[in-house]
Amino acid sequence: MKGIKLVQNKEMSKDRFTIYNKPKNIYIPLIVGNDIDITILVKKGDYVCKGEVVARRKGFLTIPLHSSISGTVVGFEEQLHHSGKYVKCIKIENDFKERTIEKQEEKPISKYSKQEFIEIIKNAGIIGMGGAGFPTYIKYQTEQNIKTLIVNAVECEPYITADYTIGIQKAEEILETIDAILEINRIQNAVIAIKKNNSKLLQAFQTRIGTYVNIKIVEVPNLYPIGWEKALVQFITRNTYDKLPIEIGIVVNNISTIYAIYQALKKGVPLTERIVTITGEMLKQPTNVLVKIGTPIHEVIEAIGGMKRTKDILCIAGGPMMGITLPNDNVIVTADMNAIVILKEKEDFLEQTCMRCGKCVEVCPSRIEPVLIKDSYENKEALLKLQVNKCVECGLCSYICPAKIKVREYVKKAKETLRKDE
Ligand code: SF4
Ligand code: SF4
Repeated sequence: MKGIKLVQNKEMSKDRFTIYNKPKNIYIPLIVGNDIDITILVKKGDYVCKGEVVARRKGFLTIPLHSSISGTVVGFEEQLHHSGKYVKCIKIENDFKERTIEKQEEKPISKYSKQEFIEIIKNAGIIGMGGAGFPTYIKYQTEQNIKTLIVNAVECEPYITADYTIGIQKAEEILETIDAILEINRIQNAVIAIKKNNSKLLQAFQTRIGTYVNIKIVEVPNLYPIGWEKALVQFITRNTYDKLPIEIGIVVNNISTIYAIYQALKKGVPLTERIVTITGEMLKQPTNVLVKIGTPIHEVIEAIGGMKRTKDILCIAGGPMMGITLPNDNVIVTADMNAIVILKEKEDFLEQTCMRCGKCVEVCPSRIEPVLIKDSYENKEALLKLQVNKCVECGLCSYICPAKIKVREYVKKAKETLRKDE
């Protein structure tokens, strides 16, 4: 695999953890992945419990959205989403009672049938928490034989330590869940992929793996973007696929997603909170924070000590490689948002003219030609020949570019050009 060793900058948030669970209001964005075709199930004035379904994505990839607090629906407002867009949200005022609909007795998590398992993780609103936001149940709702489950604990983006944190805190529960998923879905084995230099996380799993004979830990090289699904599957299986890993009998789940599955199977708890890494040189105290979905991030930033609010700050949702630059830090936490990174904008971020060095082509893991895509990003006819949709938005072309051209942004625009009139 083509890849690059990046400066990690993870130390600033590593092994730091706190909880923020007192938002005055939450905002449930009416979007899943890029899809805004969502049915609203509440109206202004309704009282909702924590864990109650307030909206539902329509169609084949249907999935519910839950309230993460108890309180009253006070209206609908547009708020900043981590995609950089303003998205309509359900605004719920917290009554600070944490009322839930009903509590489920804790259950042995491997005693479900495959169909029950699929229904539970669907009703719990579990989506890929590593950034893709794809409903998790779809991966298991297949007639194809699943041979291997790969648990992605690589987290190869610089700065982010959210998956690391859940892995350190919940290694036992994660192993128990992987074992249950294997049993329920009759999968032969599982692999937990962890980066070679992540010794503490490796140790957390190695010391607890005991007699789980069907679960193996695989150390992957410290190269970006080894955590990208296709690269990871290829590294582990020495095999590749066209569109989805299930074509070769593989399901890949992010480690935080596995813990969400545990919560749903064991306690009947839907996905209403997650760990977000809030970090970067402009933060006073970078840390990982367990937050309720729908919480405005700027509130959390203030609660953990604040940040330097100068003119030259760069707010990035996600990591600096694949993340989206936001206009401000007033963004809402969603299930698929793993980090907010606040950096000082450097002068050398300013773009210069392309020198046709070809470095972006050399480094592209999707084997496409970012420089040519950049040149034709509005020309649909030219783009069709350049296999633009193979881009996984890893950001390596922008990272490597000596002219500081935001090549990835051009490739993303090119994808939009192709989507127009589809
Ligand atoms: S074109 Fe896409 S896949 Fe290739 S390096 Fe750039 S962002 Fe990554
Ligand atoms: S790396 Fe930058 S300067 Fe070099 S060809 Fe690509 S876009 Fe042009």
